[in-house]
Amino acid sequence: MNHDGHGFAHEHELESFQPEIVGDTSDERLTDERWRAILNNDAAYNDQFFYAVKTTKIFCRPSCKSRPPKKENVRIFHAAREALAEDYRPCKRCKPTGQRLPDNEWVSQITQYIDAHYREDMTLSTLADVCHGSPYHLHRTFKRVKGMTLVDYVQQKRIGKAMEYLAETDKTVTAIAGAVGIANTPYFITLFKKLTGKTPKEYRQSHGKKLDEPGGKNDESKAQ
Ligand SMILES: [Zn+2]
Repeated sequence: MNHDGHGFAHEHELESFQPEIVGDTSDERLTDERWRAILNNDAAYNDQFFYAVKTTKIFCRPSCKSRPPKKENVRIFHAAREALAEDYRPCKRCKPTGQRLPDNEWVSQITQYIDAHYREDMTLSTLADVCHGSPYHLHRTFKRVKGMTLVDYVQQKRIGKAMEYLAETDKTVTAIAGAVGIANTPYFITLFKKLTGKTPKEYRQSHGKKLDEPGGKNDESKAQ
């Protein structure tokens, strides 16, 4: 017998590879005092902590005048670099790193937000709130950097997603319109045709799943 323990050589190494809990997490709690500072835009706390918002991936100084986030989405950091290290981005309005965020980075924050939230209601002013800028500035900057308007970008995202649903699912057109954030089906159909040259139904006919696929309506394999 050869007891060479083959296959177990790395077991011990794996055990010692457990991720460690880093830092004193109690110090990063969102205390009532910190939450009040955020709600009151209290500049007295600016040198004490930063707050990041999980949904938007943006972090701010306590004094930031942007709309207060939902409390459950807030994370506290003691240094801007800690927030940056976790892929949070500095707010354009309060500039928590002390530098102006380049426009192209700001626009990429906005497109990431749209890509994640295209199912929801979105207006220029809600986007401006989320991205911490004025609607006017947002509109102008987006158009200059991307070469298209925000509205065009949102529409392209929604219709692109609708094309996927039409090709890959058998959801109804109304259900798909709702799933991409357009509650008004006739408007969805008009927009779809404007952007793709086809109605949703025509698009599904040419790109949808074939009905004679195995398991499909016209599957003849069982009729042999
Ligand atoms: Zn801010």
